[in-house]
Formats: sequence, structure tokens, C-alpha cells
Amino acid sequence: EYLNRIHEMDKLLGAFLTVDAERALQKARWLDEKWRKGEPLGPLAAVPVAVKDNLCTKGIPTTAGSRILENFIPGYDATTVSRLEAADAIVVGKTNMDEFGMGSSTELSGFHPSKNPWDPSRVCGGSSGGSAAAVASGMVPFALGSDTGGSIRQPASFCGICGLKPTYGRVSRFGLVAFSSSLDTVGPMASSVMELASVFQVLAGHDSMDSTSLLDKVPCYKDILQERGALDLKDIKLGVVYDERMLSSKGFGQVEDVMRCFQESVRVFTHLNAKVVAISLPFLEEALAAYYVIAPSEASSNLARYDGVRFGIRQEAAHISELYQKSRGMGMGSEVKRRILTGTFALSSGYYDAYYRKALQVRQLVSQQLKNLFQQQLDIIICPTTPCAAFELGEKIKDPVKMYMEDLLTIPASLAGLPALSVPMGFDSDHLPLGLQLIGNQQREDILFRAGHAFQ
Ligand code: GLN
Repeated sequence: EYLNRIHEMDKLLGAFLTVDAERALQKARWLDEKWRKGEPLGPLAAVPVAVKDNLCTKGIPTTAGSRILENFIPGYDATTVSRLEAADAIVVGKTNMDEFGMGSSTELSGFHPSKNPWDPSRVCGGSSGGSAAAVASGMVPFALGSDTGGSIRQPASFCGICGLKPTYGRVSRFGLVAFSSSLDTVGPMASSVMELASVFQVLAGHDSMDSTSLLDKVPCYKDILQERGALDLKDIKLGVVYDERMLSSKGFGQVEDVMRCFQESVRVFTHLNAKVVAISLPFLEEALAAYYVIAPSEASSNLARYDGVRFGIRQEAAHISELYQKSRGMGMGSEVKRRILTGTFALSSGYYDAYYRKALQVRQLVSQQLKNLFQQQLDIIICPTTPCAAFELGEKIKDPVKMYMEDLLTIPASLAGLPALSVPMGFDSDHLPLGLQLIGNQQREDILFRAGHAFQ
């Protein structure tokens, strides 16, 4: 049924880069047989899942949205994929994304743009746009995305679904094509918070293959959500960020619509008995600027391995430097090249102190600020996920800074490594979905699930 739906709908949406129907049906038959024999099945038995194309899947092409990895077929699964497989989920395919995760619209895929199921003349967000479009259109019940600076939350917001960026280190990065290693996270996308929690249960937890993986035990989220009184939020203190003036001054359209939905969301939380206090998130713009130094710097190092020798396409050349030049020149898109150049510049001697070190200091400052807010007994910080709803295809593609501004509200949680959830909060005047962002303290995904579930 799901494969038929993909066959019908994906011509219009372009959410997938690869669909492996044969493999999916084979696993379905195998699970069916097990079930008939009365053998035990995993918690996600026979649930189809789409996986972002920067997560390695054994025997299935993994391109990270880049031409340079067009012919790359990994010999192993990412830990997140093998955990889903072990829970008996069925991987149906790989989803489109901005090349190496660099972008906010999935227009910067090396293959084709993906479209928003609510209005196919609009973007689906990015970089996990293919996963968001696949879930929102019902082609799969859930999907995996990755979030470095907002790539799960922003597309979830644009497509009217839920997405979780976990605490850094909570979900293994093993087998994730690295973009910015100190910021990269892998997380689930689904229609409801309950579903997110069930998938997260399978994904979260220590992995010895990832040296930054946290050792802490993972609680049972289902139990927490089903506890008596779990949906009464009287023990939860919410910090509410009202930054309408700042958003308006940045020239975002529809700020009134975003703020109207946001105010209504705050009202919902007061009805759920949460305590609400107004706070402000200073350094938003500085955080954005710091991100766009740190992420490209790490990327410039991480992407050095795509040289046409070990991975991906190789161009004919007379000598080695020409081989690098030609392979990277034709295999990588212009945004990727821009990031490599800015990153290399920021890291080079003479500029390191002025840019990279400064950016790290800003990161430290932002993290400390957020830490202080949580120490003052706040449980959750809420703000809109994005400053506007899904924009028209092509609208921001020529202006990288406009595209970067999309991440204004998602970056702080990324810099601080904090968990953040996006849940649908309403529609703008064009009937496009908008998302609410809930940021939690380190490893407090449980509180985010509780509040998000009650809100939904
Ligand atoms: N839009 C941001 C960027 O282009 C975030 C991407 C991400 O989270 N992977 O870097």
C-alpha cells in the first residue's frame, strides 16, 4: 500500500532519491512468515520508514544529496538504521536532501528539488526536506532526518509534522555522512509526538562506534507519556520568547501570522496548567553568525575526503591535483564549494583568531545563557520554529544570506547541544502549516515529549 502511494505521489513531490521496493517487500514477507509462526516481533514490526540519504544503508546507494557520491553504495548500515532494522521496521527508501545537509529548502540537492505536499509550488524546507515531504504526504508513517542547525525542525514545521533534534550524543552518528561533527544529530520525523517517542526509544542510547555517544540510560518514554496526570503540565515551567519586533525588523513576511499562532499556543499551555514566564533569547543573530563560521569550518575538513580517489565519481586526469580539481569541481554544488571556501578561510592562520576562535566564544556564551535559563528552574523554552511559513520554490535560492536567516530560531539549541522538538501549531493566512519549537535541557527529551503530546 505504501509503495503504491510512493509510486503515485512521488512523481509530483520528488521526496525520494532511491526506493527499494523489492528489498522492502522481501522483508515484509519474512516478517509475515515470522508472525504466522507466532515468533516474537520487534516494536516497529512492519512499519515502513524512509531514511535521509546521508545515513549509510548497506547495499543501498547513499549520496548525501551530492553528485560526488552518486555511485557510492555503503558496505554497512548506520547505527540508527541497524537499530530500526532490528526493531523490525522496513526501510523503503532514501530521501532527498540539500547536498551534505547544507541548505534550508532541499532545492540545493545535487539531483532535484523536493516539493511541499501542502502546496507543490513551495519548498518543503531542508535539509531533511525529502523525509518531511514523505511523512506529510503519507508515503511513510515516519522517517529519519539529521539536524545540524535546524534540518529536522524547519522542514517538519514547513510540512506540518513533528520532528525531534535530540540532545547531542544521545543518538549515534556512526554511519552518518559528517557535515559539522560537533553539531550533527540524527532524529525521527512523524505525524505525532507519540510516534516520535516510540521511534526515539529505538534510536536513543549509547553506541560504542561513536566516541561522542552519551553513556546515560534511556528512560521508557511510553511509560512516561502514559503515567497518570502526565498530560497535566502543572509541574512544568515554560519560558516564552516573544521576539516579534526582532523578526519583523529582519524583513520576514507573515510575522503576524506566526505570532498569532504562537500566542494561541501559549494559551493552550496555560490551559494545560503550565507556568509561563516571558524570557528573551539574546544573541540570536550572533549565534547565527557563529554557526555559519563553525559549521563551514568543520565541513571544510570533513569534506576533504571526497577527492575522487576513495569515494564517489572520479574524473579522468593527467595528474593527481587535476584529478582532485576535476572530481571535486564537477561533483560538488556551488553552496558546498562556498562553505568549503569560507570554512578554509576561517581556519587559516591569520584569520583563525578573528573568525573561528571568536565564533567558538560566541557558541560558549550562547550555551551558557541557555544553561542559566534552565538552571533558573525553567523546564522548556518555547518559540516559533521558523520566522515564516514555506516559501516559494526559487524565492531564496539566489541569496544565501536569506536562506541562512531561515535558521535564526533553530541555531541556539544546536550550538548548545540541547534537545528541541517541533510540533505543528497552526496555519498562516495562506493555509500553510507553522511549527512551534520546544527546547529542553540536556537529555530531557522526556519533558519535551510530555509537553508536545499534551499540546497536540
Ligand atoms: N540550514 C542550515 C545549513 O544550511 C542547517 C542545515 C542542517 O541542519 N543540516 O547549514
